[in-house]
Amino acid sequence: MSGHSISEELFARASQALPGGVSSPVRAFRAVGGTPVFIDRAEGAHFTDVDGTDYLDFVMSWGPMILGHAHPRVLEAVYEAAAAGTSYGAPHRGELELAQRVAAQYPGAQRVRFTSSGTEATMSAIRLARGVTGRDRIVKFSGCYHGHGDCLLVAAGSGGATFGTPSSAGVPGAIAGLTTVLPLDDPERFLSFMESEGNQVAAVIVEPIPANNGLLLQRPEFLKALREATRRHGALLIFDEVISGFRVAPGGAAELFGIEPDLATFGKVIGGGFPVGAFAGPARYFDHLAPEGPVYQAGTLSGNPVAMAAGLATLDILEETSAHAQLEELGRHLEKGFDAMMAGKQYPVRLQRLGSLFWLSFSEGPVARCAEEIPDDIGAPYATFFHACLEAGVYLAPSAYEIGFLSTAHTVEDVDTALRVFERGCARTFAQEGIDAD
Ligand SMILES: *Cc1c(COP(=O)(O)O)cnc(C)c1O
Repeated sequence: MSGHSISEELFARASQALPGGVSSPVRAFRAVGGTPVFIDRAEGAHFTDVDGTDYLDFVMSWGPMILGHAHPRVLEAVYEAAAAGTSYGAPHRGELELAQRVAAQYPGAQRVRFTSSGTEATMSAIRLARGVTGRDRIVKFSGCYHGHGDCLLVAAGSGGATFGTPSSAGVPGAIAGLTTVLPLDDPERFLSFMESEGNQVAAVIVEPIPANNGLLLQRPEFLKALREATRRHGALLIFDEVISGFRVAPGGAAELFGIEPDLATFGKVIGGGFPVGAFAGPARYFDHLAPEGPVYQAGTLSGNPVAMAAGLATLDILEETSAHAQLEELGRHLEKGFDAMMAGKQYPVRLQRLGSLFWLSFSEGPVARCAEEIPDDIGAPYATFFHACLEAGVYLAPSAYEIGFLSTAHTVEDVDTALRVFERGCARTFAQEGIDAD
């Protein structure tokens, strides 16, 4: 958009009040350039910015809005809950009902503790695993994101080192050193690490459907290897289902793959657009958590009644409307349409998909299953493509490494609209790169 838009004006002012003008870094558009659009209102699969431009939204708040924005039944539940008081700091029915719903849907989730974010859920699950096992070390995989807790903002150490190094300034090396970062999709490497050091490992945490660094779909054999080896060496397996939970199936990736983790973490969908996280698992582990046991964890706004009502309404509607089947069908329509559109063209771009999660990967060659396989030159073509789509009224994630989300509010027509925009976006992107359509 040229000229002096209201978004540009607000962003200039916001940059004097909020670091980078935003409350969370990727929103600042640094990876694609340009000025972020300021949102005025959102409904269904669309939002409108402060300049009055309408966008078909494929970010959906990064996952929570699985029913679309401002779903009338979710709003009704929110209004009703808010009218009865917005926070108690004391027990209430809503948290019981949502916990029971999680327990009914997620394998092994006998106990649920609510938090206010996914970050808190993974931090707390790791503390619980450390308390249960009496061990300090943990394992994560490169390309998986688990929020911004110290022990998870860690990159692989150099060479064959098994001790991680901080991936953010401000994370102490001593804490990062307790985390080992291994590659996804490499069961041999994992198994040999566990053979030598598994008896010191409290927990192995993984996104069973890694969706924060592209969409790195794992072979079930890899996840099975994690399950078997953690059990053999007395470490807990944590599935971080903050994105996949309640989205890919009622029982998340655990249900999809038929693999039950020891602990699972949730966020995004479970809060129906409100700040909610949760971690869950068998009673025998949660007996270690305060007030039952010595592992401390708490939260002033945890189990917030308005947020619980939004989450509960969301899970109710998902269940009643066979939403997962509907989302799979819509996702398949997108995938087939994209492949048909690309047939015969030489564009180095591919659509990866699982259910309602999709990633436009600006590279050629085999499908990436680990972070190391993603070429490091995908940013430039994606930036061109992103702005072509934005100008045409299709809002995608402002980073080549972030994925897209479908909701039940997206129609087949919306997907067809997006496909036409993608086609023109690709033509512009690759004309610029000197690649012809055929
Ligand atoms: C979003 C996300 C988190 C962090 O959740 P926040 O609510 O942003 O703190 C953790 N794990 C995964 C897999 C996520 O996608």
